Amino acid sequence: MKISLLLLILSLFTSSIAAFPHFFPNVSSIPPSLLPNTTAGAWDSFHKLSGCHSGQTVPGISKLKTYLHYFGYIGNASKNYTDDFDDGLESAVKNYQLNFNLNTTGELDEPTVNQILKPRCGVADIINGSSTMNSGKAASMVGHTVAHYSFFPGMPRWSSRRRDLTYAFDPRNQLSDDVKRVFGNAFTRWSEWTPLTFTESSNYDTADLKIGFYGGNHGDGEDFDGVLGTLAHAFAPPRGLLHLDSDETWIIDDVFASGSPSAMDLESVAVHEIGHLLGLGHSSIEEAVMFPTISSGVRKVELARDDVEGIQVLYGSNPDSNSTVGPTFGGRETSGAHIVSSLLVHVIFLAIGLALFIL
Ligand SMILES: [Zn+2]
Ligand SMILES: [Zn+2]
Repeated sequence: MKISLLLLILSLFTSSIAAFPHFFPNVSSIPPSLLPNTTAGAWDSFHKLSGCHSGQTVPGISKLKTYLHYFGYIGNASKNYTDDFDDGLESAVKNYQLNFNLNTTGELDEPTVNQILKPRCGVADIINGSSTMNSGKAASMVGHTVAHYSFFPGMPRWSSRRRDLTYAFDPRNQLSDDVKRVFGNAFTRWSEWTPLTFTESSNYDTADLKIGFYGGNHGDGEDFDGVLGTLAHAFAPPRGLLHLDSDETWIIDDVFASGSPSAMDLESVAVHEIGHLLGLGHSSIEEAVMFPTISSGVRKVELARDDVEGIQVLYGSNPDSNSTVGPTFGGRETSGAHIVSSLLVHVIFLAIGLALFIL
């Protein structure tokens, strides 16, 4: 009895340690002392794997296998991955390339390595062996557009009786009002398009959605990895947990200057993770906020058509506004529109060719 009590006290101290994250209003306010170290991201060693292909044995391949396993591309977990570029790795690389719209060479060509190096969300692209992105879809055409949004296995979502959700911040982070406002704005991006509302609660224990910044091992088996690498993760409904890596340099202003080697835009990451809290998986559309990676210095907070279509499959549109997706959504031309216009061009050319042939 005494031992279990001791273990309980010990576990309280060793797990779920909330850290004090760094926030800066903009890039120029980051102290120079923080900048030199921040260019060394968690996955920088993958640089040297550029050009590797099947049949080779190269130091560092085992670490890449761990990476691809973490995001669902290699099924079997192993502590003893070899440095052999085997068939399993080749097919994992092909699926990765498919999901990120790269040429499916199966080799670690430069575009593939560059994509792997980008900081990203910690939620897997392939969950329980079934891909939620491109590689799991049979290129099916829905109407004139290809749907790229995805859901978690079993399509979990908040029930129809739960349209007004509360959110709260881990009090141990002692977040400022400025930081909390960033999350408030991020929630609004989703409530604009759905019947959902989000209200901040001061009661962290009873809130539907719980937000916190943590470093390294924080008790849920999904450790953070220091600067860059994985930035955040969130759990599907109804768990409601949104965790962010406290080792990142977070920018909270909406004015984003270029030339920041590792500063991440907090609202962009928050908007993405809230998508997971509501039940969306990753999308293969690069403009979508549910695309898994985001580069440092990039701000992407506006939902793309793909995000809106996905969330409205789960919850419907906002009854208070005319927010169903129209053909001119956000001024972005969809792949469907491209297909229709290129078809039209083909038909015209064919008609001209036929007329010339007859004459
Ligand atoms: Zn994600
Ligand atoms: Zn976590």
